[in-house]
Amino acid sequence: MKEDQANVVVSYPDSGHHPRLSGEMPPPDVRIISSDGLRIPAHASILASASPVLENILDRPRKHRRSEKIIPILGVPGDAVSAFVQFLYSSRCGEGEMEKYGIHLLALSHVFFMPQLKQKCIKSLIERLSIENVVDVLQLARLCDAPDLYLKCMKLVTGHFKSVEKTEAWKFLQKHDPWLELEILQFMDEEELRRKRSRRHREEQRLYLELSEAMECLEHICTEGCTGVGPYDMEPSSKREPCGKYATCHGIQLLIRHFATCKRRANGGCSRCNRMWQLLKLHSCICDQLDHCKVPLCRQFKLKMQLEKKGDDAKWRLLVRKVVSAKAMSSLNQEQKEKRRPQRNDG
Ligand SMILES: [Zn+2]
Ligand SMILES: [Zn+2]
Ligand SMILES: [Zn+2]
Repeated sequence: MKEDQANVVVSYPDSGHHPRLSGEMPPPDVRIISSDGLRIPAHASILASASPVLENILDRPRKHRRSEKIIPILGVPGDAVSAFVQFLYSSRCGEGEMEKYGIHLLALSHVFFMPQLKQKCIKSLIERLSIENVVDVLQLARLCDAPDLYLKCMKLVTGHFKSVEKTEAWKFLQKHDPWLELEILQFMDEEELRRKRSRRHREEQRLYLELSEAMECLEHICTEGCTGVGPYDMEPSSKREPCGKYATCHGIQLLIRHFATCKRRANGGCSRCNRMWQLLKLHSCICDQLDHCKVPLCRQFKLKMQLEKKGDDAKWRLLVRKVVSAKAMSSLNQEQKEKRRPQRNDG
């Protein structure tokens, strides 16, 4: 059995793809040996052209000029070495081999500086990432300087920590690589923070966008009227079609009607009237029509704010800025969506 293993001859099924191999193959002049005793004959010129590291090794002067060149590739299973040699010759690797030896091939591609193989391994490992293998792959990704794979692993660990924690690999890691454990826990903390922050940001954006829409509706109700409510100098027409922002517009109309008749408004004791009051003030802050604006109290608020200049002025300016920018962001997104649409149809 040992004897058999010791002299396995690798066939070169894909050698036709290698330009140097299209003709007659010269006899092998190098031997690659693995830890488990596999000896694979190979050609120095092919190895050197596939990997600068192998080229370096082959260029080193030897003690006996005539002795056979031997390249040990140790620490990985013989079959992985054999798949590696196949890749050196053909730049190809079978799915089955990738599935079985992807981890080893990634390590070899890193050690022997073969970016093409490295990319293939990373892609395949990302596809096959699982709760069972993620800790091992993560360690390897860190050693082999594969940031994409590293990040994918970290995200998987973060998303399924309860299950990952139960694996043997995790227990082994806790015992033997506390630094990596710390790194993972830190990443998870930061990820949680990031998630919270972006959730808060999305909620804020939604609120500001709602306010911006409310502003548009308020203006349009007060200038041209919408369904039941219109400007003081115009008869609201019941024949008018509901506008495109019906839900918001309807809410504002109800609020305006309420504001006009509420009896509790005077001493500031009505929350709906307070809301209307704030919408009117916000409008006045955003509004740039000086004397022609038909929104009630627009001018009065402007004058009042000019007189006050201080107090909660800064707070309001910030609110105005956020509402205006939420609107700008949303219309920008809308534009981008519309730009993307026809391109998709072309393709
Ligand atoms: Zn409307
Ligand atoms: Zn009220
Ligand atoms: Zn106005």
